[in-house]
Amino acid sequence: MHNKTIADLAKGLRSGEFSSVELTQSFLDRIKQHSSLNSYITVTEDLALQEAMAADGRLAKGDAELLTGIPMAQKDIFCTQGVKTTCGSKMLDNFIAPYDATVVEKFNNAGAVMLGKLNMDEFAMGSSNETSYFGVVKNPWDTNTVPGGSSGGSAAAVAARLAVCATGTDTGGSIRQPAALCGITGLKPTYGRVSRYGMIAYASSLDQGGPMARSAEDAAIMLQTMAGFDEKDSTSVDQPVPDYLAGLNNDLEGLKIGLPKEFFGEGLNSDVAAILDAAINEYRKLGAEVKEISMPNLKLAIPAYYVIAPAECSANLSRFDGVRYGYRCENPADLTDLYTRSRGEGFGKEVKRRILMGTYALSAGYYDAYYLKAQKVRRLISEDFKNALSEVDVIMGPVTPGTAFGIGEKIGNPIEMYLSDIYTIAINLAGVPAMSVPAGFVDCKPVGLQIIGNYFAEDRLLNIAHRYQQVTDWHQQTPKGFE
Ligand code: GLN
Repeated sequence: MHNKTIADLAKGLRSGEFSSVELTQSFLDRIKQHSSLNSYITVTEDLALQEAMAADGRLAKGDAELLTGIPMAQKDIFCTQGVKTTCGSKMLDNFIAPYDATVVEKFNNAGAVMLGKLNMDEFAMGSSNETSYFGVVKNPWDTNTVPGGSSGGSAAAVAARLAVCATGTDTGGSIRQPAALCGITGLKPTYGRVSRYGMIAYASSLDQGGPMARSAEDAAIMLQTMAGFDEKDSTSVDQPVPDYLAGLNNDLEGLKIGLPKEFFGEGLNSDVAAILDAAINEYRKLGAEVKEISMPNLKLAIPAYYVIAPAECSANLSRFDGVRYGYRCENPADLTDLYTRSRGEGFGKEVKRRILMGTYALSAGYYDAYYLKAQKVRRLISEDFKNALSEVDVIMGPVTPGTAFGIGEKIGNPIEMYLSDIYTIAINLAGVPAMSVPAGFVDCKPVGLQIIGNYFAEDRLLNIAHRYQQVTDWHQQTPKGFE
């Protein structure tokens, strides 16, 4: 059962082959059996079985949607009413959200079953899941390596079949990079497509929630539920949600693919490059035309991001002060001591580093030199995407420079860690949608192909990914020991 996609499971639930309670129980058993991966922070066993029972009721009445009764899990950045929401931090280790994030509410309304809350880098800052207060997550393809981050728990759980699908969030690559390193399909939607209400903020102008699943079809089913305007999020866009399943099989004849030469130069592992070549060749066979393009400002993405994201995070994380909610230090001597020690003890090292960088970049005297400059660079990067996407339909390239790296290998070198997102960050700065699609293996470790489209072209991206998944089976591979 655990190897089936949402669409197949939905059929099985309707034909009575199994019930949602049976399906949910089998996933709960697997989560226990593979707890050493550390992909879950909280497993909501009782709640999951209650939801599964309710889903069986809906199925019996014929009032079910595709996601009804499907066991999935939420990244622990999404607030869940009555269930601990930690954002991977000691700061929120005792936080029980009083309300559901809009995304969570939408899955609940669809009748999906929540198995629990997934591990992640602290406040979504990281590329390896090693900054989590709850410990590192292991990559099921090689448990000595990281699953990527920050949605590492989500990617590992879906790859190991400990959830049918999961939510993730992507500020600079956190859906696509772990999806690539764990061999699953991930989609970062256009900024504003999915509500951020109840999604704990890291860098508000970049954060975007999206689906992490085994196949493009499953991602389409998830996005159908997640997307849409939300009056509770002033940056969500009031634009109708298309039918993401309707165009999945559209023909790719004449599709124009652009390959930015800046994506294929130095720094890209040559085995990974060979896999991308083969994937792009499949697209040629499907009728696509491929051309080289240039996006000269891409190289500025990492420095611009590491000014803008920390600046925004330093403002967003000021709310964690030990007064309103979250961690509070023992016996504070006065108010300053309360603030200083609560934040000093509650936040981890990487989060503190980001807050320091952000407050520095925003301080008087440095604002123009760093923050304002970074905003100008951000505009140039957006222009690069605008120009490229007026010439071609989609851009393809790598998701990551190499395959999953060893646990402990990069955590001591922040700059090297930041470079893991060199191919994903520019997309967030521009706000366009992008996917990571499994495209092969190097030494038994998964490699992802990135497909980037124009604003609100999620339907096209899903179509392009789905057609590739009909002629390849990379997305169907299961890590050894998790069959
Ligand atoms: N690795 C990047 C960072 O640490 C991106 C994280 C993310 O997308 N949430 O900021």
